[in-house]
Amino acid sequence: MEEAREVFYRICPRCARAVPLASSERYCTNDGTRLLEACPGCGARITSPYARFCGRCGREFRLETRALEDKAGQGGLG
Ligand SMILES: [Zn+2]
Ligand SMILES: [Zn+2]
Repeated sequence: MEEAREVFYRICPRCARAVPLASSERYCTNDGTRLLEACPGCGARITSPYARFCGRCGREFRLETRALEDKAGQGGLG
């Protein structure tokens, strides 16, 4: 009598915050980034709140926002 019920999560690609898929949260409450509901590469559901990579295709979720962070690294301390 085992019921295999999987729980899925949404993950923030910027700060790796996770919320259950059952929640109505669509955007990260920390930074306003749109949460990933599934892997942007292959569409697989996210089954762990600690996932940083897709378990199916190995895509890194953080890659989605890496381009935004790059421009913050330029310039020197005044
Ligand atoms: Zn976030
Ligand atoms: Zn994937």
